[in-house]
Amino acid sequence: MERMTPPAVDRVAASRAAVAARRARAAVKHAVATRERNAGDVLDAAWADPAARAEASLRVRELLLSVPSLGPTRVAKTMAELRIADSKRVGGLGLRQRHRLREWLAERENQPAATRPSRLVVLAGPTAVGKGTVSTYIRENHPDVHLSVSATTRAPRPGEVHGVNYFFLRDDEFDRLVAEDEMLEWATVHNAFRYGTPRQPVEEALAAGRSVLLEIDLQGARQVRRAMPEAVLVFLLPPTWDELVRRLIGRGTEGPAEQQRRLATARVELAAQDEFDYRVVNGDVSQAASEVVDLMGSRPSDPSPTLG
Ligand code: 5GP
Repeated sequence: MERMTPPAVDRVAASRAAVAARRARAAVKHAVATRERNAGDVLDAAWADPAARAEASLRVRELLLSVPSLGPTRVAKTMAELRIADSKRVGGLGLRQRHRLREWLAERENQPAATRPSRLVVLAGPTAVGKGTVSTYIRENHPDVHLSVSATTRAPRPGEVHGVNYFFLRDDEFDRLVAEDEMLEWATVHNAFRYGTPRQPVEEALAAGRSVLLEIDLQGARQVRRAMPEAVLVFLLPPTWDELVRRLIGRGTEGPAEQQRRLATARVELAAQDEFDYRVVNGDVSQAASEVVDLMGSRPSDPSPTLG
């Protein structure tokens, strides 16, 4: 009788092989995202070395998405320009497609750092919209982006680390940085503590050709606009007002009176969205983060991809 399914041992072996292959592809993407390898070398390996199965079986779209500063909008545009279908794997590309993709990457990689767009992007938005979650996602998934670490006079919350989440300073230390013009911007937030962006790390990262992300409040965003008009201001929006209320109440870090005060502030903050260059809706964190990363690599004349 004809056997319809392979014996159990074969199926186990096949699923193990599939898991191993997925892991190998993830390792290639990680190496590209952290600049250990560049995407051009991955292509060369896939096409020249029959043992490079992970490289060959990687989808072109995924390879491009792992390139630092390439987000989904630009990848989709590039794939269309290069006439490569979304589902194509590196090893399955035709000769002409290979040539176009290789050329495009070489052109990108050969750009000297100084001429690559390195941008200062400010991410602001109403309380509880999820700015922190989006910027943490960017820190973990886009190591090429320099995420500014702010200084604050508030005390650390459990689990927060000095130099990672914030530089936790005493009042007199904060005063000194302000007096010495070491703050790019600073503000008193929620009528309570002071928060500010140390100037030097931002300037150094920009000079090194890296894009820099500041996650700050509205007052700070306005100061950056004045001090550095070339900065790109991104406003993070909740999908709906009700969702913002749900997020604020759901996180349970504020009591009822403070929640009401913050919601009132959020209404005022939402009214400021027209001052911003771009609006990104934070429905799905990874999607919102990708849109922000896309904006870091786009030219100033690019139209807004996500006007809400
Ligand atoms: P939290 O205390 O919850 O970490 O942050 C409170 C608020 O301070 C958030 O709205 C955040 O955007 C803002 N914030 C954090 N760092 C800075 C900064 O460097 N400058 C300004 N102006 N606001 C900041």
